[in-house]
Amino acid sequence: MNNYAVMEHFYTVQGEGSNTGKAAYFVRLGGCDVGCVWCDVKESWNAADHPQYTTPQITEWITSAGAHNAVITGGEPCMYNLDELTATLKNQRIQTWLETSGAHPVTGQWDWICVSPKKFKAPLPQSLSKADELKVIIFNNSDFEWAEQHATSKPKL
Ligand code: SF4
Repeated sequence: MNNYAVMEHFYTVQGEGSNTGKAAYFVRLGGCDVGCVWCDVKESWNAADHPQYTTPQITEWITSAGAHNAVITGGEPCMYNLDELTATLKNQRIQTWLETSGAHPVTGQWDWICVSPKKFKAPLPQSLSKADELKVIIFNNSDFEWAEQHATSKPKL
């Protein structure tokens, strides 16, 4: 059985992207090696700083809340193998939504994948190819070019 370091988890309303306005249970996994200078969750970077939980424990949080959608975010959630967690959630008829930089291979079964490519560690082409949407942080003007470059190279969008 897999263990996951979890920085925080809470039931709220998705505030970004195509699923904006939909209730979702957020699970923020600890651990990230991307190193964005403007990161607003730097406390997530070291997985060892956060307690470990199993798939049944995480699933229990989500089902107990009555949530129908789960957002697995980070940190960089794709540093974990997410096959077991997403299979269990889908068995419970929970919609699985992923938020990733794309810098690591995507594992698991997903109903929605948001890839947020970062200049600090570029996305893998195979991860980018799975994206249902792209999210790009605009920090300076060159970030518009970065966004357009990835939008045009993304066949699924
Ligand atoms: S990928 Fe996300 S969690 Fe990781 S450093 Fe960048 S903004 Fe922070």
